[in-house]
Amino acid sequence: MAEMRWDLAQLVESVDPDWITARLEEMVVEAMGIADIYKERIEGLDASGFLALLELRDEFSLKYEGAADYCRLKYSADSTDPISKRLNEAVRNAGTKAGQALAFMEIKLGALLKAKPSLVTDPRLSEYRHFLDRMVRRVPHVMTEELEKLTISKDKNGISAWSQLQGDWLSTRTFKIIVDGVEKTMPYGEIISLYQSPDRELRREANRVVYDGLGKDEVVWASAIRSVCADHLQMCEWRKYLSPMTQSLIDNDVEQEAIDALMLTMGESVGAYRGYLRLKAKLMRLKKLGNWDIVAPLPNSPEKKYTWDESRREVVAAYKGFDPEWGSWVEEMYSRRHIDGEVRKGKRSGAFCSSWLSGKSAWILQSFNSQIGDVYTQAHELGHAVHAYLGSRYQKPSNYEIGSCIAECGSVFGELLLTDRLLKETKTNEERRAVLATVLDEFGMAAYQVSARVWFEQSMYDSVNAGKFLDGEMISNLWMVGRDKIYGDAVEWLPEMKWEWTMKPHYYIPNYRFYNYPYVYAQLFVFTLYRLYKEQGKAFVPKMRTILSAGSSRSPIDLAKEMGFDVADVGFWRKGIQQFEEFVDQLEATL
Ligand SMILES: [Zn+2]
Repeated sequence: MAEMRWDLAQLVESVDPDWITARLEEMVVEAMGIADIYKERIEGLDASGFLALLELRDEFSLKYEGAADYCRLKYSADSTDPISKRLNEAVRNAGTKAGQALAFMEIKLGALLKAKPSLVTDPRLSEYRHFLDRMVRRVPHVMTEELEKLTISKDKNGISAWSQLQGDWLSTRTFKIIVDGVEKTMPYGEIISLYQSPDRELRREANRVVYDGLGKDEVVWASAIRSVCADHLQMCEWRKYLSPMTQSLIDNDVEQEAIDALMLTMGESVGAYRGYLRLKAKLMRLKKLGNWDIVAPLPNSPEKKYTWDESRREVVAAYKGFDPEWGSWVEEMYSRRHIDGEVRKGKRSGAFCSSWLSGKSAWILQSFNSQIGDVYTQAHELGHAVHAYLGSRYQKPSNYEIGSCIAECGSVFGELLLTDRLLKETKTNEERRAVLATVLDEFGMAAYQVSARVWFEQSMYDSVNAGKFLDGEMISNLWMVGRDKIYGDAVEWLPEMKWEWTMKPHYYIPNYRFYNYPYVYAQLFVFTLYRLYKEQGKAFVPKMRTILSAGSSRSPIDLAKEMGFDVADVGFWRKGIQQFEEFVDQLEATL
């Protein structure tokens, strides 16, 4: 169906591959030209000169966005097509070259701000104020040019290699399991799909087989994670970070106090989640959930299928009910064919939304299989699109570098708008249950389960700092302490689950420490916002628009402050938990 396929030609003046590659070459030449002009001049810039450079940088990224995105998006839609391959290669090469040519800018601009701090508050640069604040925040942690170079080569054969080893090792493991009476050997990527099987015994066995197998290689995983953690603590000293979390706080543009209040709220509210897990056990007619049941589908879930048109109708109506303009943008995403939903071979798995700032719109890819989960994915990605529609209308590209805490706001909010709509439409208790369990399971995983991961990561750094040696058993113990703080006795765990930390690639990714709390932040922040919407009705709509229009022009904390919220206050976050509890009550009412 053509309407389920996106029309990428809108991104470029010509879809001729030669024209596009020539355009990318132009981009590299222009980047080198900018470098020639500015490399030796940055030190002497005054506020007007600084402004001209920032504006030039923004214009440059808008100018070539269409051609570059065309190549990337086309490849994600069909990686087997020879033209896609050629264009993807071209954009990668051009991107690397342009990136290298312009790499000097960040370092030199940081040094300039250090030498002339008055530039930050200069009224001529007021539009870029927060962008400059962020740059200044990074300056004290940048080392000399030589040490920075040395760090890059050290990491290549150090933490990057450990991370690579973890990924390669995991993807080459195979697992033996009996499915329908036949013994099968499956790679990790395949066997994990059995976790969602409606057959409870099979789910349990798949979990047991995987973690038993992973535990056998504990020496590999422990060596890798230990090295990555120890390297991070070492670099915290070199870069003068206050704590192991500082680097991620800077990257995510947030403050320690807000994260402390957030995590405190999660810790004190575990009873709400355990209550849900007990209710889910009841719905599944079990005494207690096993760890293999936590996100399993409910038995007797209605097998309602959604056509593309039905999904479109529900999602558009959900957004329109909140703000008619949002509804019209979402409708435009369908009518202008900016969503690729067709299921095809050679298409990237999963779903994403890519902002199109110069076109003041966005592009979405998903594989639409007519399940309720696909409708939710569509609503989620369209929330990102609304974010892009607003951001591109109000912000320059430099002020649209959104950190993870805010990036998921529009999308998760959109899921709740869809929930609202579906709950109003559903006729049977089974249908209501399926909708509510979808939302509650997702919150449970993104907010509660990820909180356990935050505590686990912190406890590893604390242990290394206390002089303890992180071997497999030790790491497993830390893992179980964090996990049990969330789940308590509400879930029965297979003993093999102590090896759960081994497979999570994020713990091994270089310079990506504390990847986790932004997910908790986003999830609870949006539940809180949704609660306020329910309390304030239409008066809340402009506040949500302000949040999504701000891009990265203000920090998440200042943005919240403008709305009258104090994210360093536990009381603010508790509103999100109240919303979670209300959904649990609604689920209980279906019994
Ligand atoms: Zn998302």
